[in-house]
Amino acid sequence: MPEDINNNNDNDKDYEDVCFICRRPESKAGKMIHIPNNICICSDCMQKTFNSMGNINITGPFQGMPYMDMFSGGVGNMQENVPKRQKLKKKKAETEKKKAPEGVFDIKHLPAPHIIKGKLDEYIIGQEYAKKVMSVAVYNHYKRVLTDDMDSADGTEIEKSNMLMTGPTGCGKTYLVKTLARILQVPLAITDATSLTEAGYIGDDVESVVSKLLAAADNDVEKAEHGIIFIDEIDKIAKKRNTNSRDVSGESVQQGLLKLLEGSDVEVPVGAGSKNAMVPLATVNTRNILFICGGAFPNLEKIIKKRLTKQSSIGFNAELKDKFDKDEDLLQKVTTEDLREFGMIPEFLGRLPVVFALQAMTEDMLVEILTQPKNAILKQYKKLLALDEVDLEFEDEAIRSIAKKAIEKKTGARALRAVIEEFMLDIMYEIPKDDLIGRVTITKDYINNCGAPKIEMRGSGEAKILTQRDLPEDVLM
Ligand code: ADP
Repeated sequence: MPEDINNNNDNDKDYEDVCFICRRPESKAGKMIHIPNNICICSDCMQKTFNSMGNINITGPFQGMPYMDMFSGGVGNMQENVPKRQKLKKKKAETEKKKAPEGVFDIKHLPAPHIIKGKLDEYIIGQEYAKKVMSVAVYNHYKRVLTDDMDSADGTEIEKSNMLMTGPTGCGKTYLVKTLARILQVPLAITDATSLTEAGYIGDDVESVVSKLLAAADNDVEKAEHGIIFIDEIDKIAKKRNTNSRDVSGESVQQGLLKLLEGSDVEVPVGAGSKNAMVPLATVNTRNILFICGGAFPNLEKIIKKRLTKQSSIGFNAELKDKFDKDEDLLQKVTTEDLREFGMIPEFLGRLPVVFALQAMTEDMLVEILTQPKNAILKQYKKLLALDEVDLEFEDEAIRSIAKKAIEKKTGARALRAVIEEFMLDIMYEIPKDDLIGRVTITKDYINNCGAPKIEMRGSGEAKILTQRDLPEDVLM
């Protein structure tokens, strides 16, 4: 008579135990944990189950279950096995919150707009208007958060100060936001709008931006709820014209962002990019999160010009059509109307009440960026060589030449580093070879590939200035 293969007798030594969850046999999954009703679970699946339960105190309902002892260190150890990036920080007790204000989150310590701007000035060159607008908006935003005035008795609700900034690439949009977050000591998440799609399509759904912020706040929900989210390249999700297909990465993303901008409870995975059964979820309220959107908005000038020309050509005060052609501040005149014309939907713009533009980089601004900010690039190189006891100098004309070269690249301040690295590589490589070198002066000719840097030797009385002929061939470009 054939053996009864349907007989699931646990004591039958001829058959391997099979995990009830992943269906792997004992030979693959390792020792099984037996729970009542003849169910076997491998330790991997058991571990995953507990991980997904997050911080639930498993000593309670599971106390006394025989399989709990199967884990080497017991319950305590299992909690430690949950990766830290998947653990949520506990919320502080109400009393503790009031007693220990952290960083800026105390109305008394909230820096006034002029102090915020003063701090920004230390790092950011130019962009005066943008710095001023941002300082005031941020100040109002956090004042609103701190006083919790939203539901005040007199019914006055302070609106959220979400911002939208326009400006060409490399003019400091991201840098401004990063600096602001650092000054205010709040967590910051930076996302690219181009990576976002409508939920259910390939790409990240809009809620992933909140998940990123939570990660930036070390999984501390409370901290994340006071953070800043910067969505770059927002112009790339403008409504597409003349399209019959579903616009999953344009208008739909704008629609999807509406509820986040406004403020809502969002369930986000902790320590992972997407929601799945094994990842714990946290609820983050976006009401007090400051959203800043930025984009280059190419050809926005044309839209602004069209609007201004239309306005000024009506009536007796009609002006010349090309009046705005040479207006360098045209972009500063941006309004919500222009952005709507560009393809941003009105509901989206309605939730970004602060709109402003950054200036394109000029040669003078680039010269200042090279030398003035606290961590200016040239200062960084000077410091690096000073560690080798070499004095690095830049002739004024050389600095201007660097700025000129960077302007040609048309990527704003981003081009500076590329231009500098091109010629500093040789300096950084060759100078440490010779202990006798005491000073290097970068000249205009060296930047323009038609000369060498001035090199002075240390020690012996008068400094010796080497010329192109004295240098080993590989120091020259
Ligand atoms: P984007 O406007 O494209 O976001 P970024 O903010 O990324 O430009 O700027 C690139 C780099 O250029 C920054 O990391 C910063 O070092 C430098 N930079 C840009 N604008 C300024 C500025 N106004 N002042 C000082 N540095 C700047």
